[in-house]
Amino acid sequence: MIYSVFQIILISLFPVTDKSICPKNSAKIMVKHIFVTGGVTSSLGKGIISASLAKILQARGLKVTIQKFDPYINVDPGTLNPYEHGECYVTDDGAETDLDLGHYERFLNRPTSQANNVTTGRIYQTVINKERAGDYLGKTVQVIPHITDEIKRRMRLLEKGGKFDVIITEIGGTVGDIESLPYLEAIRQLRQELKKSDFINLHLTLIPYLRAAGELKTKPTQHSVKELLAIGIQPEVLVCRTENHLTKEMKKKLSLFCNVEKNSVIEALDAETIYDVPLLMLKEKLDQIVLKKLKIKAKKEPDLSYWKDFLGKLKNPTTAVTIGLVGKYNELQDAYKSIYEAFVHAGAENECEVTIVPIHSGTIDKGNVAKMLQNLDGILVAPGFGERGITGKITAIEYVRENKIPFFGICLGMQCAVVEIARHVLKLRGAASYEVNKNTKDPVICLMDDQKNITDMGGTMRLGAYDCKLKKGSIAEKAYKQTEISERHRHRYEFNNDYLKALEKGGLKATGIYKEKNLVEIVELKDHPFFLGVQFHPELKSTVENPHPLFVSFVKAAIHCNQNRI
Ligand code: GLN
Repeated sequence: MIYSVFQIILISLFPVTDKSICPKNSAKIMVKHIFVTGGVTSSLGKGIISASLAKILQARGLKVTIQKFDPYINVDPGTLNPYEHGECYVTDDGAETDLDLGHYERFLNRPTSQANNVTTGRIYQTVINKERAGDYLGKTVQVIPHITDEIKRRMRLLEKGGKFDVIITEIGGTVGDIESLPYLEAIRQLRQELKKSDFINLHLTLIPYLRAAGELKTKPTQHSVKELLAIGIQPEVLVCRTENHLTKEMKKKLSLFCNVEKNSVIEALDAETIYDVPLLMLKEKLDQIVLKKLKIKAKKEPDLSYWKDFLGKLKNPTTAVTIGLVGKYNELQDAYKSIYEAFVHAGAENECEVTIVPIHSGTIDKGNVAKMLQNLDGILVAPGFGERGITGKITAIEYVRENKIPFFGICLGMQCAVVEIARHVLKLRGAASYEVNKNTKDPVICLMDDQKNITDMGGTMRLGAYDCKLKKGSIAEKAYKQTEISERHRHRYEFNNDYLKALEKGGLKATGIYKEKNLVEIVELKDHPFFLGVQFHPELKSTVENPHPLFVSFVKAAIHCNQNRI
């Protein structure tokens, strides 16, 4: 292929993985859009399907990103109780986001940012601020066009900078919800504005199995597509969640009733793990369908060797450990999503099957702690807010400290470890975190200076990535194999340096420091096989390709503990 000088300059200015997605003689690199909607019910796994599609496209050499549009009015999920919406995922740039962004990062091994998660609250906030600033020049501000314009602007924001070839946009909620309507209308409008080959809608739907009739049913999907059609959206691809294989006849029927090409009706069988889904989608040729519709020529064979390796290790463990997860939101696994997934990655890395036992911190007391924890190979004390469950967490830490069971404390878990050592080693009986007891004489965990005058709750914590310097020879340094790291934060309270000397005398070691403000970010303990508390959230940065070093080391320590016990 011969390129003109102009084309060569263009290609070097806006590099794309595959030249064929750059239309010949065009000054503009067209970014391709895939919109993912959901039908019939919620919880079908739109996030996993989006992440899996992104993964197999990435494996074909494309630069892919995923963004999520959530139809609730909260400006971000930062103020939501974990019971409402699961874990709040934090990005490097300090955005408090939906937990699906965690899946995107874990699958793609690429960081997301504030731009990857938008809520209805944020859209309205922008439009209302513009209205107050007089930007609409006296016009009546309405859902259409003003809200939909703002949605469309944000849907296309990541096109800028030539960083991506493909943008996948997941629309939260289910087609038919009142809340999602403006997003669907925005998609409908974009269909008119973008070229046909730059845009597809993938509709994820459920094919329920009626046990009594012994049949899979397509009717709910037909209705859900009808709903989309009424809004003016024709899905190009139908991905059908199902317990059993779809027959050829069923696919034909769905194709006929939903106006979707027969080969673009594919099944998404229930998978053993979420990490199997990219390979299942590959088998269903979802990547080929999408590439053809979007007229993208990509690498012939997707390179998923690392992924397959990981699955091999995950499914063929040579050892096993049991870890107790002490937290107060244990009723809902989603509340600790990234922690669970980080253990999956670290388990595979160690070829070890990690079983997590959720332990409700509210149920632990001095009388039962030994019985509850003695057979565990490690204890992770979870992040959290407020007073509920604190005593149980401290009791658990005292037990594992004295009995030399590996301990890993994350954020509140680290703060509880400091309180425990202050109370039981330094004998400062009333020591506490200022968050829990405003009248304590010994606030070993105190409110950060820059938090003191804050009254608004939304987006005001210490959020996002901060550097941390590690002490040579520490557990942390040995795990990371380097002394300069960066980790993500989400908290208001902090280690109180006034107590550092006394705590060090008691055996505590501050092994990670945020130099700029002299903040203690990591604590460890002398004479303990593995006692580690971190003020940040390492779980947020663990991916399939980069299992988090601290989780990997903690699982290693748990394997040792298990073997010593045997
Ligand atoms: N509640 C504690 C704080 O705000 C810990 C937060 C957390 O665990 N993420 O400092």
